[in-house]
Amino acid sequence: MTAAEVLALEAAHGSTLFEPSLVFERGSGALLYDHLGHEYIDCAAGIGVASLGHGHQGLTAAIARQAAALMVCPPSYGNGVRAEFVSRLSELAGEPLTRVFLSNSGTEANEAAIKWARVATGRRKLIAAKRGFAGRSHGSLALTWNAAYRRPFEPLDGDVSFVSFDDVDELAAAVDDDTAAVVLEVVQGEAGVHPASREFLTQARRLTAQHGALLVLDEVQSGVGRTGNFLAAHAYDVKADIVTLAKGLAGGVPIGATLMSDAVAMAMPKGGHGSTFGGNPLACAAGLVVLDELTSGGLLEHSQVLGERLRRGLEAIGSDRVRAVRGVGLMIGVELRARAAPVIAGLRRRGVLTVGAGSTVVRFLPPLVITAEQVDEVIDRVALELAA
Ligand code: PLP
Repeated sequence: MTAAEVLALEAAHGSTLFEPSLVFERGSGALLYDHLGHEYIDCAAGIGVASLGHGHQGLTAAIARQAAALMVCPPSYGNGVRAEFVSRLSELAGEPLTRVFLSNSGTEANEAAIKWARVATGRRKLIAAKRGFAGRSHGSLALTWNAAYRRPFEPLDGDVSFVSFDDVDELAAAVDDDTAAVVLEVVQGEAGVHPASREFLTQARRLTAQHGALLVLDEVQSGVGRTGNFLAAHAYDVKADIVTLAKGLAGGVPIGATLMSDAVAMAMPKGGHGSTFGGNPLACAAGLVVLDELTSGGLLEHSQVLGERLRRGLEAIGSDRVRAVRGVGLMIGVELRARAAPVIAGLRRRGVLTVGAGSTVVRFLPPLVITAEQVDEVIDRVALELAA
């Protein structure tokens, strides 16, 4: 099929939500090649999904092996790949997250978190953060702040209130003995890459514990090595009752995970939640490769070191078009003094793919395998674009 035919079919039968102008069929590491053979350094990674980059040999081999062996095994039967995956995952996440419910996306992981939090506390009230993003399904949407995403679907779950991110006083005033959970991103991603302050997360932990509520951390974007730690929360020494993961967890194979303590997990009645595809051996086999690469493959340190290199390099550009450079590890936002869209388009013309966050932030979420040379090339091209 020619690229023109691809775009015509997408335009005729796609959901109408997007209007693609580039066609990609091939990638390698942090590089992508469009239909004209142009090369791009991919700093979007499908919005933080391609953690091991494109065409990773170990990942593709594991997927092929697992596909040939067994792709379908519902949780009513045991499966060795799944058993190993959930045990490694809970080990890496650390205490008290000993239990894992597997699903297929970030929003599903958050839906599960909401249900478990309510059933475990016997309460309904949830507190989320202004500017926060938790997904597009109805429960997650109720925790999402942006009116443009919410309004067409209101009324949403009414037992959700919002506090300003990083405002300890507002949080303290909001949490009470009716609160089921406080749900927070450790680094707000869609909002423009805002890492939480240490004080805010620590107080969120203290206040929830004091009132018998749960702390739920949505690490769908910030987790799985994106910030240089397995969980972004590890840098804060804050232990949540529930953590949600998705995006890069299986390197591109759809997956969601809701990690929780024993006490939380056991509160759900048998049959109280479920997922047809969740925990399928294909996703678990892919996930095991990601966990291996992060640990024995040294990818956690790589993400930390290269993230630092990218952030410092972007800061050093020193353009007066930039208001701030923020981020942790390979989750970085460059906030501009004007709209980000023209800069994102300019970078695309220069062979760098990035993602917007809010209207003024250019977001960098490259595959964690991006090389130092590629990072330096990205910095050079951003400098050229900002000087144009
Ligand atoms: N939570 C956070 C913090 C996210 O960034 C996202 C997606 O961007 C989601 C949840 C929803 O994930 P998904 O698109 O896989 O449903």
